[in-house]
Amino acid sequence: NRRILLASRPHGAPTAANFKLDQTPVPVPAAGQVLLRTVYLSLDPYMRGRMSDAPSYAAPVEVGAIMVGGTVSKVEASEHPDYKVGDLVLSYSGWQDYALSDGKGLTRLDPKLGRPSYALGLLGMPGFTAYMGLLDIGQPQAGETVVVAAATGAVGSVVGQIAKLKGCRVVGIAGGADKCKYAVEELGFDACIDHRAADFPQQLAAACGKGIDVYFENVGGAVFEAVLPLLNTRARVPLCGMIASYNATGKPEGPDHLPSLMRRLLTRRIKLQGFIIFDDYGQRYPEFFKEMSGWIAAGKMKYREDIIDGLENAPQAFIGLLEGKNFGKLVIRSGDE
Ligand code: NDP
Repeated sequence: NRRILLASRPHGAPTAANFKLDQTPVPVPAAGQVLLRTVYLSLDPYMRGRMSDAPSYAAPVEVGAIMVGGTVSKVEASEHPDYKVGDLVLSYSGWQDYALSDGKGLTRLDPKLGRPSYALGLLGMPGFTAYMGLLDIGQPQAGETVVVAAATGAVGSVVGQIAKLKGCRVVGIAGGADKCKYAVEELGFDACIDHRAADFPQQLAAACGKGIDVYFENVGGAVFEAVLPLLNTRARVPLCGMIASYNATGKPEGPDHLPSLMRRLLTRRIKLQGFIIFDDYGQRYPEFFKEMSGWIAAGKMKYREDIIDGLENAPQAFIGLLEGKNFGKLVIRSGDE
């Protein structure tokens, strides 16, 4: 059983040295347990937070412990009455090949519902995040301008597509020409601006001629600074993530923007609200699942996965996620379906 452990806490961007691959015998299920084999491992930005011991909404991974993560796993052996060999389940097995479970927290996957890995993305935590953040906090109205950062990623791509379904004008922000082209040509966004361009603030302003009514925040940093002056009166800002600062080791350089931010929020009556998806909306997952399944069945959702083979490649892939190297939902394929 290969397992990837947190070897040490990163200072700044994680490196390969912060992870350790070790090997233990494959465990044997006791009565009431199942043996799960990881087929897909989800890699998500929140894992950076778990690598640190700074105070957060969830406990850190201990040094020497297995890195946490959602998985699609196959039942390899069962001593549990509700599961049989071959069942596919959504689990939280972490970065390892095999795990034991007593069945708590497992969700059986319906083989009719498209690719099993969708349970980690479009139909899972990231899709649910996009749906609740945009609709419950963003409250987009037809004709409004919605801007979303990390626009081709697991969350952002779904935010923009739902906003289009609601009749909004959608402007994405993404890193590089290929991602921007994909956002417009495949995802159907009205425009997409490259945040790495030298004149990014000017390009964004030009693409948002009527200002911004909803800004779905995934990034923070320089991207938010370009967005802030464009926010309209009564704009809504679902604050989902701030990936640009997850590797930060101190305060950013330059002037203190806090007073001008506060003044802008006040004078423009802007609503900025953070949320933690399962803590705040867990009970509404069935509602999301039903509506998203309908959109998928009707061919209304495009979804791109960035699938990397081999559990041993998880650390490098995760390091890349924090640098924008992924193109679509990042998933490790660690075994056969
Ligand atoms: P993505 O699939 O979007 O991948 C991360 C992307 O972030 C990268 O591809 C890159 O896109 C962008 N990025 C990385 N570093 C930077 C940077 N320094 N500046 C600007 N962009 C950067 O990830 P997810 O869709 O899974 O997550 C998106 C956000 O949502 C994250 O902030 C995450 O923490 C948050 N989240 C929050 C949840 C909640 O409950 N609040 C739940 C789930 C996710 P590009 O190349 O386009 O810049």
